[in-house]
Amino acid sequence: MTVRVGLDIGGTKTAAMVADAAGRCLGLESRPTDAADATRLVAGIVAAVDAALAQAGAARRDVATVGVGVPGQIDPARGTVSLAVNLNLHEPFPLRQALQDALGAPVTLENDVRAAAWGAFHWANERRPVRSLAYLSIGTGIAAGLVLDGRLYRGAHGMAGEIGHVPLDATGPRCRCGAYGCLEVYAAGPAIAAQAAAALPAGAAPDTSEVYALAAQGQPVATEIVDRAAGYLARAVYLLAMTYDVEQIALGGGVTRAGNDFERPLRHALAALRADSPLAATMLPDEAIVVLPAELNAGLIGAVYLADLADATSRR
Ligand SMILES: [Zn+2]
Repeated sequence: MTVRVGLDIGGTKTAAMVADAAGRCLGLESRPTDAADATRLVAGIVAAVDAALAQAGAARRDVATVGVGVPGQIDPARGTVSLAVNLNLHEPFPLRQALQDALGAPVTLENDVRAAAWGAFHWANERRPVRSLAYLSIGTGIAAGLVLDGRLYRGAHGMAGEIGHVPLDATGPRCRCGAYGCLEVYAAGPAIAAQAAAALPAGAAPDTSEVYALAAQGQPVATEIVDRAAGYLARAVYLLAMTYDVEQIALGGGVTRAGNDFERPLRHALAALRADSPLAATMLPDEAIVVLPAELNAGLIGAVYLADLADATSRR
């Protein structure tokens, strides 16, 4: 038996999936991430893999490849993770070697948003063939991942697609990155909730999906916040379309799980851009923009297929 393992390591949750050669899920394990220190982090990841393998009726000796999506900056040559604040890893940490030693199989690391872009690309290709796709993740932060000509595009510093910190309004509020009016200060999950908490009567503190639900019911303050976020997100989608001319733009991440309450205002804002500009109408056809299904774990699927990426890179 030969299996592939995909891992999605988040600040709160570690998910492991065991798949067969065709990518079909044979075992799936999710458990809280133990980020107390690097040793416990690695031990927790290995325990999640062992549990998923047991579900699949497989053992470590059956593992052909391991792909890992991590929220941090990856050095693909060294196999290290940096800036992974949510994982309590503050220095470049050799996660690839640590997992290879523990699991006895080749490990490929990728930033979590880029892993999810790779997963979204595989998901999109099951529906119709595409060669290029931008994935926009809207959650605690906002970032995009890019697949261009069938290859994951990292950029010179592994930062390609980090558009959450592109300032869109110089008169806007200051962002944690230091700039003013970044996309994140309007449209990331915590920003939506914080704007609602500031504008609603004291004591009312809806979470992000509740703000979206209130807006869908016509509550004026929530509607203003959601419509503004949708307007900026539509511009970010347009920015991706104009910069990379991709065939498809997929949106995912925690905020998009508000479902129709998220998608309706976004489609409305995209329609407004099209109404203003024939160029936007050409570059942003409605069918090119998809919101990923809430139950799809694009990060995990991408992780399962990350080894293909390493093969493609070494062949280059
Ligand atoms: Zn910023």
